[in-house]
Amino acid sequence: MNDTAALTTRLSEFLALQNHKHFIHGAYQSGSTDQQIAVINSATEDVIGRVSLGSADDVDAAVASALKAFHHASPWRRMSPDDRGKILYRYADLIEEHTETIAQLVTLENGKLIKDSRSSDAGGAAKTFRYYAGWTTKIEGETLDLSQPQKGGKQNFALTRREPIGVVAAVVPWNFPVSIASWKVAPALAAGCTVVLKPSEETPLSALLLAELAIEAGLPPGVLNVVTGDGATTGAALTSHPDVKKITFTGSTHTGKLIGKAAMENITGVSLELGGKSPAVVFDDMIDQAETAKGIAAGIFRNQGQVCVAGSRVYIQKKSFDRVLTDICHAGESMKISHGFDETADLGPLVSKSHLQTVQAYIDQGKKDGAQLLSGGRNPMEKGYYMQPTVFSATDHQQTIIEEEIFGPVLVAVPFDDLEDALEKANDSSMGLAATVWTQDISKAMTMINRLQAGVVYVNSPVRSDPNLPLGGYKHSGIGRELGKTGVYNYTTLKSVNIVF
Ligand code: NDP
Repeated sequence: MNDTAALTTRLSEFLALQNHKHFIHGAYQSGSTDQQIAVINSATEDVIGRVSLGSADDVDAAVASALKAFHHASPWRRMSPDDRGKILYRYADLIEEHTETIAQLVTLENGKLIKDSRSSDAGGAAKTFRYYAGWTTKIEGETLDLSQPQKGGKQNFALTRREPIGVVAAVVPWNFPVSIASWKVAPALAAGCTVVLKPSEETPLSALLLAELAIEAGLPPGVLNVVTGDGATTGAALTSHPDVKKITFTGSTHTGKLIGKAAMENITGVSLELGGKSPAVVFDDMIDQAETAKGIAAGIFRNQGQVCVAGSRVYIQKKSFDRVLTDICHAGESMKISHGFDETADLGPLVSKSHLQTVQAYIDQGKKDGAQLLSGGRNPMEKGYYMQPTVFSATDHQQTIIEEEIFGPVLVAVPFDDLEDALEKANDSSMGLAATVWTQDISKAMTMINRLQAGVVYVNSPVRSDPNLPLGGYKHSGIGRELGKTGVYNYTTLKSVNIVF
């Protein structure tokens, strides 16, 4: 029961199209086949539109358009960095102006709370485009002193320059469909690349809207293309395309491995931002018990737990275990569960029926393996794909719900003795995306920072993203980092030059 009466005019017009096409070379283009995918509202289970299932031919057309737009004679490549930056600033402003339209669309297709769609997706994307607009004028190489002897009294001057790498394939998941797309598209465009974006089949509509806004911002046709479809057909065709020079992927470790293999077939550059099973470590000397419990709850239950950096394992020092856990359960139980358009809701539905079934299966497995279910564990609603904030307590560390990413609002709490025990447990994972540490002892915090095997460590706060803070993982959580300066350099290739004179 969404309040669809309040949809913006722009969104109503967009949704009225019903059958959405690919966005190639600055305009909507029909797919080469009639195959479509239904986009479902996960709160009402209604179909809100259909998108084309992109074939290899559709992917070819999009890559050809991006390649043409990357050509040396194209307006994008000929543009000065300052002019490119102006377009990206305008794009950021347009995204911000259309916050409500983007947020409503994300909530419709993903189910997440409208306040999160506003702040994380629309707001996050605007910030990211603005941040990278500033980078267009700051991409630089180096001058280098060489040791090569020069014959005949000649001299030399050596330098490196960074050049845009070429056509970028951006493959993104459904959990933050707009902001994660911006983490890839914004730096790629800032570097001078052109992009083909493949959104998840669960959340393809917001990507199409982003492409419309890009044209309105003044991006030349072909610089940003969107091909909708599934992973097995469309995603695979895009990531194995020989004209793609860089693949940037966010998604599961399983898909990341497939994409890594496809990339190596064509010797294509690849960045993989993959799954996580991030630990939160709470010491007895935490600053404030209530604030810590709230932070742990926010770290796992935000966005229904569908967050790559979610703190899904919490290790609590023995003396504090029971009381902190009681507060965490209380925080979860106080959350209002409702549809995404309810401004007072704290937790919305999961993205899809199949994802809810996956999360439910993990909860059942946890019970079977002997973990103690303390709170939540079921869908409390008659309609929609909801899951209560769920908390388990466990002592045996070798359990499926401790080892595997659930990607739902499910937390497992385990007690620990001392710092060494906490580190051993926290690092005992095939993944290493993020970690949080809760203590007021700076030397303890620094030891944890030094020794945690995680790409991102926050102290006394749940993990949050920022355009200037690189994000990426150790171990099976990925290869490479996005965001920050390193984010834009991902889309450049280095040319070494030596001038002998
Ligand atoms: P998937 O790996 O299933 O899908 C991610 C994207 O890849 C989707 O667009 C999907 O398309 C596409 N895809 C699927 N199969 C292929 C294939 N064979 N070739 C090319 N593309 C393919 O992940 P989810 O969508 O389920 O996203 C959740 C995962 O993403 C979690 O593991 C989470 O941890 C991770 N994630 C990581 C982040 C990070 O920064 N490290 C941030 C956010 C999420 P389709 O959906 O249409 O099948």
